[in-house]
Amino acid sequence: MARKWVYLFSEGNANMRELLGGKGANLAEMTNIGLPVPQGFTITTEACTQYYEDGREINAEIMEQINEHIVKMEEITGKKFGDKTNPLLVSVRSGARASMPGMMDTILNLGLNEEVVETIAEQSKNPRWAWDCYRRFIQMYSDVVMEVGKKYFEQLIDKMKEEKGVTFDVELTAEDLKVLAGQFKEEYKNKIGTEFPTDPKEQLMGAVKAVFRSWDNPRANVYRRDNDIPYSWGTAVNVQAMAFGNMGDDCGTGVAFTRDPATGAKGLFGEFLTNAQGEDVVAGVRTPMHISEMEQKFPQAFADFNRVCEILEKHYRDMQDMEFTVEHGKLFMLQTRNGKRTAQAALQIACDLVDEGMRTEEEAVAMIDPRNLDTLLHPQFDAKALKAATPIGKGLGASPGAACGKIVFTADDAVEWAARGEKVVLVRLETSPEDITGMKSAQGILTVRGGMTSHAAVVARGMGECCVSGCGDIAMDEENKKFELAGKTFVEGDYISIDGTTGNIYDGIIPTVDAQIAGTFGRVMAWADKYRQMKVRTNADTPADAKKAVELGAEGIGLCRTEHMFFGEGRIDAFREMICSTTVEEREAALAKVMPYQQEDFEGLYEALEGAPVTIRFLDPPLHEFVPTEAEDIQKLADAQGKTVEEINVIIESLKEFNPMMGHRGCRLAVSYPEIAKMQTTAVIRAAIAVNARHPEYKTVPEIMIPLVGEIKELKYVKKTVVATADAEIAAAGVELPYHVGTMIEIPRAALTADEIATEADFFCFGTNDLTQMTYGYSRDDAGKFLSDYYDAKILENDPFAKLDQTGVGKLMKMAISLGKPVNPDLHLGICGEHGGDPASVEFCHEIGLDYVSCSPFRVPIARLAAAQAAIKNPRQ
Ligand code: PEP
Ligand code: MG
Repeated sequence: MARKWVYLFSEGNANMRELLGGKGANLAEMTNIGLPVPQGFTITTEACTQYYEDGREINAEIMEQINEHIVKMEEITGKKFGDKTNPLLVSVRSGARASMPGMMDTILNLGLNEEVVETIAEQSKNPRWAWDCYRRFIQMYSDVVMEVGKKYFEQLIDKMKEEKGVTFDVELTAEDLKVLAGQFKEEYKNKIGTEFPTDPKEQLMGAVKAVFRSWDNPRANVYRRDNDIPYSWGTAVNVQAMAFGNMGDDCGTGVAFTRDPATGAKGLFGEFLTNAQGEDVVAGVRTPMHISEMEQKFPQAFADFNRVCEILEKHYRDMQDMEFTVEHGKLFMLQTRNGKRTAQAALQIACDLVDEGMRTEEEAVAMIDPRNLDTLLHPQFDAKALKAATPIGKGLGASPGAACGKIVFTADDAVEWAARGEKVVLVRLETSPEDITGMKSAQGILTVRGGMTSHAAVVARGMGECCVSGCGDIAMDEENKKFELAGKTFVEGDYISIDGTTGNIYDGIIPTVDAQIAGTFGRVMAWADKYRQMKVRTNADTPADAKKAVELGAEGIGLCRTEHMFFGEGRIDAFREMICSTTVEEREAALAKVMPYQQEDFEGLYEALEGAPVTIRFLDPPLHEFVPTEAEDIQKLADAQGKTVEEINVIIESLKEFNPMMGHRGCRLAVSYPEIAKMQTTAVIRAAIAVNARHPEYKTVPEIMIPLVGEIKELKYVKKTVVATADAEIAAAGVELPYHVGTMIEIPRAALTADEIATEADFFCFGTNDLTQMTYGYSRDDAGKFLSDYYDAKILENDPFAKLDQTGVGKLMKMAISLGKPVNPDLHLGICGEHGGDPASVEFCHEIGLDYVSCSPFRVPIARLAAAQAAIKNPRQ
């Protein structure tokens, strides 16, 4: 039997969202509960997928079912396509599983032609309305189906208004609109080369195709990527009998929410326009009235609408976003969906629904989009100003928040300008550790190079600072402090605005508003903590970051990148001396300088965590990130080591690697220079002994993590130094101090040989940044350059450095667990790559049985919520 590709509204229900899309499922549901819905049918999302499989064609079987349903619809409505007495006019709208407002296309008034327009003009005794519908239809069809730009038609309207000496469309007469319709058709013929189609069935097939096609338009593709919506879902198409809001002053159209989508406050919120069609409200051609004013003009429809709102909220147990039309005083519902809302409103509504007895705590937790929480914790652009702005470029949204300020090109300038009260955005080719103070002083960071796990991105996320990385369209001239983007030259002091969530870059000033956390945040987070089964730790390198993370709910440190502890003023010098040492003696002397900083910082971390676990990862500096580049710094290093600048330059040269990410880093450093591991172990253990002496109640148990292990013997080799050093320190102090030694799993070979590695490791922590890099073979720093080509070619749907590749990288993780656990049942499991703060990846971590996820401080609440949602959806035994 043929598959069913088309459903009448009366055949569906709210649970059929996957097949009918959100709009179709809800139209069916509203039909089922007896609400006034103009009837019609839904062409399934599967038909859309089939359309793409068939090479962008609607196949004969689907076509036949659409035709059958036109006949059924004609029977139901008592109207007929193209009929001379009772013609059927329809709207054609997209509707994916997840709502994608404004991303895809809509066509209204389909079914009109030269004859039908005369019929409805005569029948309605309202020729103005009839011709208005017709000219709108020609305009929309030409734009959406045939892709003739809107502007040609708008120009014709403007010309007509000018000739008639009027300002608004509504002032044009029936005769004017008739002339316009003629001009539109002429324009269509000029552009397309054929007559405007008159057969409603032909019009309908064209419209259905256009909606399917719009699933793949550029803005939909970007929206899907930003919102985690798979391309494979496809969109459904809804064909619905028209209800007319533009038939006169007893007609109108509106959009309303049952609660305020900005604040969550209960009560009707929306807009209404008399004598108009839906698109007029959205397009903002006329200023609509507040929904409450509808009561005076349309008392009956308003009362009916209020009743419908109540029914729908109770039915869906969530805030609804509805579109409706009033035709000659009678209400028709065109759409309902769970409304989009700000993070603040999401929290408020979730709490209110629990208090109103409509939702359980678990359901309330499950309702909130974790990604939304970002906006509560970081400054954002003023929503109105943002809407009015057009981006001039796009990079990767590497660290969320909004920043607006004057452009500076060096970290020093950022510090200096900020000190005199200027707000600045630091624009760099790429960032290096010496930029850290400048990054801190800036409102945000924009880089030309670098991916989601590049230095700038990781550091900015740690600081909670807005960052857009990898905008390859910028032609940078750092030396002369200028760059070009979108045909404009930007110089120092010019204003720029960047959005670290979307990656968008704007010319000039867009005002920002500060982050705001309300009481509802704590309440929802407490529910999340109650239901989640994974712990949430943080990646923090300084006591200040650690404290912030604890405030945001972190239950431990999953990753302290010890090389990051040397970013600060003065410290980097000692660190560079260590890197640029040529003998063991020199290195030990430099390490002796480094050691007190380390111990002090470790003590700070232990104290911030008050006994909660702290994982210290041993040095893993891709050396290229740390060697000095400025002449002044090179001189400083030469002075400190009693060497000449030339000698230092030779050392720097010798440290250069063709592929530093796969070079002398991670445990390889500790293999070459065991004295580094020795110093770090000493600092870790002494700090723990000191803090436990000051705070016996903490009982801090340090965790030492060895990076970039790919071979059991590497781990054994380094661990030998660690254990010998630690045991000697503990014995010398005469205390008892348990400690753990574990490893990162970030090299595919480590995952493949996890059964061996687990015999030596107390814990595995998945370093999915490197694991992704080495599994795909994409450089973490350079992937940004070609990812957009991969999106366009449909090879990738997401950045695998931001959203875990569950198929490949995830398989390695599962393999490592299934190999490691049997040989070491106590093996503790976590993740500390950037994926630890991505909701979909967190869900995967829950599924594969990790004990904790670790992410940058500002993503801790997101991970808490995502972990709770995963546990609620699929609780572990
Ligand atoms: C990783 O590789 O996932 C990781 C956490 O380490 P880093 O980003 O410091 O290489
Ligand atoms: Mg790594």
